Amino acid sequence: MTDHPKADHPKADHPKADHSKTDHLKPNLPAPPPSSPSFATPRVLAVANQKGGVGKTTTTINLATAMAACGRRVLIVDMDPQGNASTGLGIDRKLRTVTTYDVLIEETPIEKAALPTAVPGLSVVPASVDLTGAELELVQINGRESRLRRALRIPDLPWDLVLIDCPPALGFLTLNALVAADAVLVPLQCEFYALEGLSHLLKTIERIKRGYNPSLEIQGVVLTMFDKRNSICGMVADDVRQHLGDKVYRTIIPRNVRVSEAPSHGKPVLVYDWRCAGSQAYIHLAGEVLKREAALTASTAA
Ligand code: ADP
Ligand code: MG
Repeated sequence: MTDHPKADHPKADHPKADHSKTDHLKPNLPAPPPSSPSFATPRVLAVANQKGGVGKTTTTINLATAMAACGRRVLIVDMDPQGNASTGLGIDRKLRTVTTYDVLIEETPIEKAALPTAVPGLSVVPASVDLTGAELELVQINGRESRLRRALRIPDLPWDLVLIDCPPALGFLTLNALVAADAVLVPLQCEFYALEGLSHLLKTIERIKRGYNPSLEIQGVVLTMFDKRNSICGMVADDVRQHLGDKVYRTIIPRNVRVSEAPSHGKPVLVYDWRCAGSQAYIHLAGEVLKREAALTASTAA
């Protein structure tokens, strides 16, 4: 493996990150654990659903922002060739010289691909359209399903938590994300066909557990784009809770115009307008996710 010639990114300098810009997001969130042992590899959460437009990218960006605001060192890996997570974090296409493609195909060390963002403590491995080709190239590569896992299971990476924003498909990119992950978080849009796609995803997760990643867990399912004026939304929410019980987070993300405006400003909605209902919901969700993380890591350590 050689050093990648394009590896000229500025280094993300997390330990000294200035948190004053995001301090106001903190009070509702639990404090980080007293000290994470430096030899540990980061916890990895894949945000997955093979449907497009269900809120994967929005959830990834805003959960990551909330967690960075409460002191976690967080990395987003943009696994979608559309690069929406990178755009939503304000990463100009010209800056995307070293990308997820390089990590997966060229074995570029992930630290060299990570770019700092405007959110203190949050970095992103950006995606570009090259990643579309990676689906095909991976087919011919040895250990094609575990390329991302290998890149992330390295001691002393400078992150506590990695969130992977998956593409809207169950191909090799999502497979890599689910093989790399400790747990998967599923955004589910409150719409009539929501449960249909979900059972297919749950079967896929079971298959990946059996075949590649026995310790993969479901972190939880988050209901997104909830519109209280639409009666279908309430029916779907009840139905999903009946099927999945406490796997469904208590927090529901409302449909909120500020959430949909934020990406065009290259900002997480938590930075664009932290008071809006969408931001407040993501802050609550981050609290729930971190609580579950604490329970999951305690049960795997036991
Ligand atoms: P995915 O990554 O699953 O394709 P996105 O997160 O990109 O989904 O969301 C799809 C679209 O819906 C985007 O335009 C996004 O800005 C918008 N959106 C996501 N969540 C909300 C919300 N809670 N309220 C309003 N618009 C939303
Ligand atoms: Mg997306």
